[in-house]
Amino acid sequence: MIKHDVLIVGAGLAGMRAALEVCKELDVGLLTKVYPSRSHSGAAQGGIAAALGNSEDDSWEEHMFDTVKGGDYLNDQDAVEEYVKAAPEVIYELEHMGCAFSRTEDGKIAQRSFGGHSKPRACFSADRTGHAILHALHEQVLKHAKSIKVYSEWYMHQLVVEEGRCCGVVVSNIRTGEVEVIHAKAVIFATGGYGRVFQITTNAFAGTADGAIAAFRAGVPLEDCEFVQFHPSGLYRQGILFSEAARGEGGYLLNGKGERFMEQYAPSRMELAPRDIVARAEQSEIDAGRGVNGEDYIHLDLRHLGEARIMERLPQIRQLGIDFIGVDCVKDPLPIQPSAHYSMGGIPTDMFGQVIIDADKTPLKGFFAAGECACVSVHGANRLGTNSLLDATVFGGRAGRTALEYAKKVEFGKINGSHEKARVLDQIEEIFQRDGTESYNQIRNEMKEVMMDKCGVFRDEENLKSCISTIQGLKERYKKGKVTDKGQLFNSELYEIVELGNMLEMAEIISTAALARQESRGGHHRTDFPKRDDENFLKHSLVYPKDGQLELKYKPVVVTRYQPKERTY
Ligand SMILES: Cc1cc2nc3c(=O)[nH]c(=O)nc-3n(C[C@H](O)[C@H](O)[C@H](O)COP(=O)(O)OP(=O)(O)OC[C@H]3O[C@@H](n4cnc5c(N)ncnc54)[C@H](O)[C@@H]3O)c2cc1C
Repeated sequence: MIKHDVLIVGAGLAGMRAALEVCKELDVGLLTKVYPSRSHSGAAQGGIAAALGNSEDDSWEEHMFDTVKGGDYLNDQDAVEEYVKAAPEVIYELEHMGCAFSRTEDGKIAQRSFGGHSKPRACFSADRTGHAILHALHEQVLKHAKSIKVYSEWYMHQLVVEEGRCCGVVVSNIRTGEVEVIHAKAVIFATGGYGRVFQITTNAFAGTADGAIAAFRAGVPLEDCEFVQFHPSGLYRQGILFSEAARGEGGYLLNGKGERFMEQYAPSRMELAPRDIVARAEQSEIDAGRGVNGEDYIHLDLRHLGEARIMERLPQIRQLGIDFIGVDCVKDPLPIQPSAHYSMGGIPTDMFGQVIIDADKTPLKGFFAAGECACVSVHGANRLGTNSLLDATVFGGRAGRTALEYAKKVEFGKINGSHEKARVLDQIEEIFQRDGTESYNQIRNEMKEVMMDKCGVFRDEENLKSCISTIQGLKERYKKGKVTDKGQLFNSELYEIVELGNMLEMAEIISTAALARQESRGGHHRTDFPKRDDENFLKHSLVYPKDGQLELKYKPVVVTRYQPKERTY
């Protein structure tokens, strides 16, 4: 059995930042199903928020207010306050680790505008910010190779919880197919989001809810999963992201009539309103037949920025347009549509990264989470752009610190793990033995389509009920699938099937929580309940597993400085 003081699953920003904290005193295992620098954090383009005030005066109070308003007042404000206060230090720390941020003329860290932020507060490295930060952290991880052992291309299947304490995980080495138990005093999940549940998404292939569902299967509820963010500028039909930085730099959105339609929806912020509002505006234009050429897309127009500005600030976006659809944004507008982008919900934690399983903040000892897989909740019902890289870095560090302090105080738990390992082996064996008639690819496609159509930007009771019933049908069909590759080595088909099982579970959780929330707030919009309802729904949802079914409970939102008000832009 492999043993580490602290085992971290996920090597994106949150996981690597946590590892760098733990390795100061203890030994760390850092496990990831993709090579660390291929984690989705590396795809982040636009920036990371901090009230440095380098371009205009700014303050953490304004950052906090914008974040709470952007989140439609569902954010836990005690956590938001800690987080925005920590932001400037985080930027300087990243810079000292070697992350090269773009500069102002006088040599300060440059800051650009972003949706929902009232001040230019996004620090950036051109439009490759996530790449720059992820690589800086990876270099630090390599530098600490003596105390951080990286398990690259290993897959986490399941948590091991014994006597109410998390003491390890069951994993497999993707290369060899061997299943192992890793024993740890503390486990941190930093497994990222689950955008892959939807047909059109900006997310990398690895965003399949493995961490959230492993926690759920161990009895941990999932919080606020009905809140999924649709990004306004995913490439038409493919979802590949054109960062909001394009609008931050001055890009326009145009409908089929060539109108800057945001005037009708958010006259004061226009294209830089928060994402939920812009995505709904786009979808409304498309649904009203005002898409470009009558199709399901609208235009992102950057031509007026000029080639020099585009090459300085948005070079990757230009290249993505050229490479994927042969459109050069210097000369022509880019076709875009709302695309599933970010999971506001996830594994509930307190603001120190400790996983908590109910409204009384009861901890699951030894289990911590950070980054997109966690719900602290600093983003409430809708995350502002650039607040997520910050979330992953701040709470990654904090979860690392909390796990370290915990692991220093406890002995290794008594662990057998054979039961959990046998379950994983049985699951794999069962997949190999199934000789059904169903195609997993077909099931995956149907899941993605129904989630996009019926649990997407606009939702209502009838569609959500039909969505849940489709997903339940797909879960049944999943049991009758057929695998073609039964080999041990690098069996990617096997892992895709396991991931599909996780995504089907996640899809049911998202749509069930969405059906229960009979109001519209942030990223969750119900056409049959178009208003926010603070009286009945100013609360976080918690979905628990119960006898093979889902059970819904709620917990209060922490409101400190900013009382809920109407949200207009
Ligand atoms: C295209 C795009 C652009 C974005 N741009 C911005 C931006 O400009 N600013 C901003 O603030 N936010 C942005 N975001 C959001 C932000 O990038 C993410 O929320 C954040 O990077 C998530 O970091 P993370 O560490 O939580 O997870 P990730 O970086 O997604 O890493 C997840 C890790 O978990 C591992 N993992 C998952 N499941 C398993 C398993 N079963 N076994 C082993 N390992 C597993 C993966 O291998 C990976 O290492 C963007 C997101 C996308 C998709």
